[in-house]
Amino acid sequence: MRTIYLDNNATSKVAPEVLEAMMPYFGDLYGNPSSAHSFGGQVGRKIREAREQVAALIGADPGEILFTSCGTESDNAAVLSALSTQEDKRHVVTSRVEHPAIKGLGLHLSQKGFRVTEVPVNGDGILDMGFYEKSLTPDTAVVSLMWANNETGVLFPVEEAAEMAKQRGILFHTDAVQAGGKIPIDMKKSAISMLSLSGHKLHAPKGIGVLYVRKGTRFSPLIIGGHQEKGRRGGTENTASIIGLGVACELALRRMEEENTRVKSMRDRLEAELLAHIPKSKINGAPSNRLPNTTNISFEFVEGEAILLMMDELGICASSGSACTSGSLQPSHVLRAMGVPFTMAHGSIRFSLSVYNTDEEVDFVVRELPPIIEKLRTMSPFWTPEVGVCATAAG
Ligand code: PLP
Repeated sequence: MRTIYLDNNATSKVAPEVLEAMMPYFGDLYGNPSSAHSFGGQVGRKIREAREQVAALIGADPGEILFTSCGTESDNAAVLSALSTQEDKRHVVTSRVEHPAIKGLGLHLSQKGFRVTEVPVNGDGILDMGFYEKSLTPDTAVVSLMWANNETGVLFPVEEAAEMAKQRGILFHTDAVQAGGKIPIDMKKSAISMLSLSGHKLHAPKGIGVLYVRKGTRFSPLIIGGHQEKGRRGGTENTASIIGLGVACELALRRMEEENTRVKSMRDRLEAELLAHIPKSKINGAPSNRLPNTTNISFEFVEGEAILLMMDELGICASSGSACTSGSLQPSHVLRAMGVPFTMAHGSIRFSLSVYNTDEEVDFVVRELPPIIEKLRTMSPFWTPEVGVCATAAG
């Protein structure tokens, strides 16, 4: 059975070019980039090249790029550095819809006695900028707002929010793990102090991340040890993954237009056809202000997990907006923060595409999903013909 992979916000395929670039560094080129000899030095040179490739993707200076182990580490390192370089400040501002990498850290910090403000969003997932502005105080050490939401793809106006923080002397971090490689980012024109990326969301391997730290920003390392990364992160470099990430960033820059045209139009068609053929279905998140590859659709009166299982039998991979916690299905914190009704949140599915998807794959999903929803609804105690009748897609 073939796999139709529409779960690229969870993780993405390692690009063949990336894999090819990495292979020699698992084999003959195993030198330590910090070694004085030329055997290690040749690896060091490739790491410098990768740093330049990553910097080019986000319009940064290579010296502002710090390699980490993942997006979660980058997020933690940014916020914790801001707190430890400003010990007099005890307040952190974030949003209600952050990824657990920031949300979990916020909870941890509040248990340690820091004040953490989570800015709300409206029903479309758009940040309440009035609330945000009021939450910035002289005690605020750092703001951390995601650039793009991993569940809905909704974009936050991080440039504007960063400018507001900068005017008040507050550091601004953005979790750009989902935005990186999908939308243009230019740090030269920005007030953002720190930015996180993760390799496995942009066709590089898992276990490699990036923290951009603007030149002049005081930084306190999370991982203390050797002199690697100019003393900002100890530990021998993950050489093959860094080199792979460099190639992935170069590819992402080249494919940015394709991501925003071909991938976007596949996403738009998938969305439009599913909405047209499945009654009581609705997009979650502001339709015009989203990542080009992501759609989150609620199918009322059906269980998301059941939809996933039936799609899985056909080789279709996606994600649901509810997670099984302690035996009960909890709708995601993102959909709850947006006030999506219970019956809608439970039946939500996230499809996230990539440049490796094809029109034929979209056709397949558009053909196969409506009967799945129809079948599940006939089994649902909440679904009656008076509520709606499911139609089947043509073709
Ligand atoms: N931030 C966002 C928005 C994400 O979507 C993810 C991963 O899903 C992360 C952070 C964590 O990245 P990593 O898996 O590299 O730790």
